[in-house]
Amino acid sequence: MRADPRAEPRYAERIPYVVIHGEPGARLIDMVVDPLELWAMDSPFRLNDLYHINKQIIPALQRVFGLVGADLNRWFIEMPRPVREAFAKHPLSAPNAQRTRIDYYYLSKHCILCGELVQASAHICNQCLRKGASATAAVIGRTSKLEKEMQHLAAICRHCGGGD
Ligand SMILES: [Zn+2]
Repeated sequence: MRADPRAEPRYAERIPYVVIHGEPGARLIDMVVDPLELWAMDSPFRLNDLYHINKQIIPALQRVFGLVGADLNRWFIEMPRPVREAFAKHPLSAPNAQRTRIDYYYLSKHCILCGELVQASAHICNQCLRKGASATAAVIGRTSKLEKEMQHLAAICRHCGGGD
């Protein structure tokens, strides 16, 4: 809304969000971010898994399994789990110092057009770079195709969430 006032959600419109780990004592509203912010390569945020399990997954499962007398809350509390330190929404250190995304561990990188190996800092190999305009057209074409796929997946996601 800061960038585009007309992007304000309409009354009763459902918008995608995720809850992340916040600073101790943070209010829920301070721990809500756009899912794309969480998935960004240099995102400093970490998904608040306990919030989503306790507030969204368990209540939904409980409505089903409650019919046969199961208590999913008790079952989840009794489950052994590792203890992890909490990350703040406003980090004191560099963004995503933990580098928990799997692509950080890839040792090789490939040209996005022809698949040839390239240096870690490059996206396109020298051979494709020399093609100039045709390489540009190919990148734009692929971007358009990926954006269409992303919109299609987002539409499926909204449909499941009742956002239609
Ligand atoms: Zn190439």
